[in-house]
Amino acid sequence: MKAIIVGGGIMGLSTAWGLARDGHEVELFEQGPLPNPLASSMDEHRLIRHPYGDQMGYARLIDDAYAAWDLLWGDLGQRFYAATGTLALTGNGADWAERSARALATIGRPMIELRVADLPTRFPQIEAKGVERAFWMDSGGVLFAQDIVTALAQHLARQPRVRLHPHTPIRSADLEQGRIVTGAGATHAADVVVVAAGAWVGHLLPDLGRRLVPSRQVVIYFDLPAAARAAWANGPMIIEKTGDVGLYLVPPMEGRGLKVGDHEFSRAGDPTAERAASEDDIRPLLERCRSLLRGFERWRTDRLKACFYTVTADERFVVEKQAAHGWVMSPCSGHGFKFGALMGLELARTLATGRDAGAHARWAAGLEATAAT
Ligand SMILES: Cc1cc2nc3c(=O)[nH]c(=O)nc-3n(C[C@H](O)[C@H](O)[C@H](O)COP(=O)(O)OP(=O)(O)OC[C@H]3O[C@@H](n4cnc5c(N)ncnc54)[C@H](O)[C@@H]3O)c2cc1C
Repeated sequence: MKAIIVGGGIMGLSTAWGLARDGHEVELFEQGPLPNPLASSMDEHRLIRHPYGDQMGYARLIDDAYAAWDLLWGDLGQRFYAATGTLALTGNGADWAERSARALATIGRPMIELRVADLPTRFPQIEAKGVERAFWMDSGGVLFAQDIVTALAQHLARQPRVRLHPHTPIRSADLEQGRIVTGAGATHAADVVVVAAGAWVGHLLPDLGRRLVPSRQVVIYFDLPAAARAAWANGPMIIEKTGDVGLYLVPPMEGRGLKVGDHEFSRAGDPTAERAASEDDIRPLLERCRSLLRGFERWRTDRLKACFYTVTADERFVVEKQAAHGWVMSPCSGHGFKFGALMGLELARTLATGRDAGAHARWAAGLEATAAT
């Protein structure tokens, strides 16, 4: 079988990897360099964690996601992951952590509830102001995203049946016929075309642009005093909702940066422009950091990064067959990277074996336990 993949982020590359492992032919087209620094997948790190609110389907998939990453580490000859454990904090009427704890107990992966009074001793780097309940889980950690994408692109470049085309924007895709046209006017055809174009998907497939809405998200990298850096060097990862802004904190594992971001979708912006971020973008987040992080007044903003991802109304992934010879692959809404290797392997399997497309879409949406009927 021959597949064309549009997009060289984690989803396109993982699908190419899955197909190449089984001996299929792949041509992958990327509009920028490969990897492209503007892609969603290109940041120092992305989190993987079991707690998932009510979305039990995704919580259940986390073990499969870890297994897929392990397979990838085997092929790449290197592991790009650091374990941190997961600390979930909640208050101010928010109940995401409680809902996560309930869902995880139901699937037999319970979180441990911590006494709020014990937090300052166990995590001296945190001020527990506004925290009403706290939960801990040993699992969870940091995937070194841009290192993964870079190593995977290099690995694919060495595969005899894979051809990578960086700096080759695709102007149009005919998913009925399995054909694409490049910006320079060249036509390529295959048995299947997979569009994994991230936040640009609406440019290529305008009908999908209404379901998959680009969202500009700003993250902050901090420069920490040496003592604070040492205190955070082994984690934890924090998922927090005790103020007006829900916050996540990525600890500086293995010498990477410490990053803070929020999960409030902007649902606005153009992924090719609007890449500069300003202090105005981050004011509410800084406010929240001030009351959550001990010694925060000595932290300095190192850099801001404006990233884009697509958001769906219910935050479920869209991996769907479109027409006779096409698929759209958009597992995102700000939580897709952790499933990148798994989404690629499973889509490759469905493409190669003709498994039921509807079952695959429901699995990717977190509604079925397996991608096969
Ligand atoms: C700030 C932020 C924080 C996040 N945190 C997490 C997290 O903690 N955990 C987690 O699991 N996920 C997280 N995510 C989400 C995760 O990063 C994304 O779900 C994932 O990277 C999406 O990968 P992708 O391959 O679909 O898209 P991308 O990585 O954006 O790749 C799409 C590629 O397609 C290319 N392309 C587009 N159009 C064309 C065209 N016409 N022709 C050729 N090439 C084209 C683009 O240039 C791009 O390289 C976060 C995302 C952001 C932005």
